[in-house]
This record gives sequence, structure tokens and C-alpha cells, in this order.
Amino acid sequence: MADEVILGYCVKEKAQKPMKDPEEVVLKNGKHAIRGICASCGTKMMKFVSAKKADPAAPAVAPAPAVPGTPPTPKTA
Ligand SMILES: [Zn+2]
Repeated sequence: MADEVILGYCVKEKAQKPMKDPEEVVLKNGKHAIRGICASCGTKMMKFVSAKKADPAAPAVAPAPAVPGTPPTPKTA
């Protein structure tokens, strides 16, 4: 799709590296992150992103992907 390069921090190389197969995920605490693989060495990497500062050009992401077996985040305050 978009040919924009997403940089993530590679813990193996201790440097910012282009991310391969980036995938936006929402963590249990509601924070958004981009998960992918280091295009340089293949190490899994994750980059935290601010949901409020979301790139308007970014494609819309479903807030809660329906994954069988994955219960929704309990909202117990
Ligand atoms: Zn790497």
C-alpha cells in the first residue's frame, strides 16, 4: 500500500531501523503501537504511537478487531 517507511527501535542493533510488515496494534492499556519486524536483522520490534497524534493520512484501523478467543478489554475502573 503506502510506501512510507516506518522506523522502529531494534533492540538487537540498538538503533532505529526500518520496520517490515508493520501492523498497528492496541495494547491492553489502550495505547497504540506498531508491531513489525526489523528489516535489517529480522528481530521483532515495536514502536509506540500516540493515538491522539494519529497521522490523518493513515488508514483507519478498526478499534476492536474481532478475534475469536480474545475477550474484550475489561473496563473495571
Ligand atoms: Zn535489527
